[in-house]
Amino acid sequence: MTHATGGSNLRVDGEALWTDLMETARFGGTPKGGIKRLTLTAEDRQVRDWFVKACEDLGCAVSCDSMGNLFARRPGRDDSLPPITMGSHLDTQPTGGKFDGILGVLGGLAVLRALREAGHVTRHPIELINWTNEEGSRFTPPMMCSGVFAGVFTEQEVLDKRDRAGLRFGEELEAIGYRGEEICGRHPLAAYFELHIEQGPILEAEDRTIGAVAGVQGMRWYEVTVRGRDAHAGSTPMPLRHDTLLASARMIAALAEVARAHAPGVGTVGLIENRPNSNNVVPGETFFTVDIRHPDDGVVAAMEAAFQARFRAIAEAGGVTLEIVPIWDAPAVHFDPACVAMVADAAREAGFDPRPIVSGPGHDAAYVARVAPTAMIFVPCKDGLSHNEEESITQADAQAGANVLLGAILRADAAF
Ligand SMILES: [Zn+2]
Repeated sequence: MTHATGGSNLRVDGEALWTDLMETARFGGTPKGGIKRLTLTAEDRQVRDWFVKACEDLGCAVSCDSMGNLFARRPGRDDSLPPITMGSHLDTQPTGGKFDGILGVLGGLAVLRALREAGHVTRHPIELINWTNEEGSRFTPPMMCSGVFAGVFTEQEVLDKRDRAGLRFGEELEAIGYRGEEICGRHPLAAYFELHIEQGPILEAEDRTIGAVAGVQGMRWYEVTVRGRDAHAGSTPMPLRHDTLLASARMIAALAEVARAHAPGVGTVGLIENRPNSNNVVPGETFFTVDIRHPDDGVVAAMEAAFQARFRAIAEAGGVTLEIVPIWDAPAVHFDPACVAMVADAAREAGFDPRPIVSGPGHDAAYVARVAPTAMIFVPCKDGLSHNEEESITQADAQAGANVLLGAILRADAAF
């Protein structure tokens, strides 16, 4: 299956893309068919070495910045222009799949190959980026080095991070030979496009091939402590109880109602601790977390006000006290409307009806969007499954996504 792109007859080689995906899956490949390729490990070095050679074989010059971010550059007609860029990450979770992040990098490689084979010279230089430590599994937080690039974190705070074995990020980066000369962030980008698997169920459920990603939803986290009084389960009449688990159960149900009332908002209680957690004691203290998300920060704020009001009313009715502590606030990211339109146009030209979509998970693109016009392309993954060794996509969808990436790059080359 082939699809024309970008007002030209350029298209990616889907077979070669699939071969690259399967070949690089060897680096950290697991018996269950997934990949364990934690950042700055020997497996990470192996896939980086493979990547550098593959890019050089396509005539690109590869540079490395001080955070180990790699930039493979294909010259343009006017090399004084900042590059049109694409990319993602080659690191994985400990039980990761073959496509999360990797599709965006190798899809970009397929774009570079298509440009070379067609002899197509762009106006801007085109660069393919592999960001260091997107996953945040070995060294937290995630999206660490696109974060330094965008000024979210300082280089020093990242270099000083330690993994659970006590090894320091800075030394581990040196050890795999990918601490470059160029200071991270001193690399202007004209635009950035990231192809990624959806990691959710929407495209598959609606039988759509391409998601034109408008942004990343806003997210707030809280810790909630409900305090009442431990009491005997046999002798304490129901009206005289201060049962914190019962109140918490009502709060959890109320949070779900608040989220449903603010669709497509989501609200989750994923962790709960109950004290004393004994079968014949009325619980006297319950702790739980709250995670709320919505594409619009204004609605996130409305969800916050609504759930807190419901929680307070439940606490009062139940004779318990309530403490809510906000612990994290990640504002919504809105990608560049012009870049999102380029993705949608490229999808239509390739014969797909693009599905406007907002990302639930974070991505390197969410940070890059702070310093360059940015958009993302999603393709479906089986059962919406990701961060799982069984993560699966089709060759046709991989090819479709890479063709849309190519079309978006060509549009950006003309527009910027
Ligand atoms: Zn990813």
